[in-house]
Amino acid sequence: MDRDYLVRATALDERVRAFALNATGIVSELRRRHDTSPVVTAALGRTAMGALLIAAATLKEEEQLLTVDVKGGGPAGRIIVTANGRGEVRGLVGNPHAHAESANEKLNVAGVVGSTGFLSVTKHLGMKDSYQGTVELISGEIGEDLTYYLAQSEQTPSAVGVGVFTQQDATVVAGGYMIQLLPGLSEKEIAAIEERIAALPHPTKLLREGATPEQILERIFPEGYTLGDSQPIRFHCPCSRERFESAIVSLGQDEVRRLIEEEEEPYTEVVCHFCNESYRYSTDEMEAILEAAR
Ligand SMILES: [Zn+2]
Repeated sequence: MDRDYLVRATALDERVRAFALNATGIVSELRRRHDTSPVVTAALGRTAMGALLIAAATLKEEEQLLTVDVKGGGPAGRIIVTANGRGEVRGLVGNPHAHAESANEKLNVAGVVGSTGFLSVTKHLGMKDSYQGTVELISGEIGEDLTYYLAQSEQTPSAVGVGVFTQQDATVVAGGYMIQLLPGLSEKEIAAIEERIAALPHPTKLLREGATPEQILERIFPEGYTLGDSQPIRFHCPCSRERFESAIVSLGQDEVRRLIEEEEEPYTEVVCHFCNESYRYSTDEMEAILEAAR
């Protein structure tokens, strides 16, 4: 888990921004919490890394948050991930056990995500300031779809490479990179970067060989780059008993009374869809919540 981090860098006189991460611990945690099949682990993991990369590139403050929402129409259902400026990420998927036939050795991510829907990114920048961009999915492979989103919606030509290696025994290796081209690059410079990205082995192959995120960037910028911040990243869900209690109060007294009356157990259980933690409220606690909802 402690290997997870994200690095920021620039190259070619700051006309290129680059990010790379190792998110093996995060994707393992997502797999464990949601009990995802290998191909859904890959779909959810890629989306989580994409959210972290876009958060690192665009959020200016720790408190800011973004949500990546993928509705591809495939058997996995909807994927929703949130990431914040502190490098904390969480996510959920409609059908964690979905499968899709694969014609080769690779996990058929597009097969579970689907490729006929939408990807949207919503940024919550503080107070009432939020921004949303939506694009049609072009492949359902996530990385390509995020690249398309960045080009279309944020007008930033980018390359997003995110990969999850996983096996039935729950081994997970996950990581990737994002390269953003800023104005002022020549055609020749752009072509050289594109060539190196095209020749780059899959990021999980590099990570499994022991490469660090910095070394992935070295492969893309062999002539050198300037390393910026290194940021720890982790799975984190901010849910708590108190937060769910407030959420139940906000349902209003009629709804809370209905929950108490319809409950067959001596408690009411609430499960957080983002992390699968469950919280139980005894009948006495529910009566106190009902009192608060008046
Ligand atoms: Zn939670």
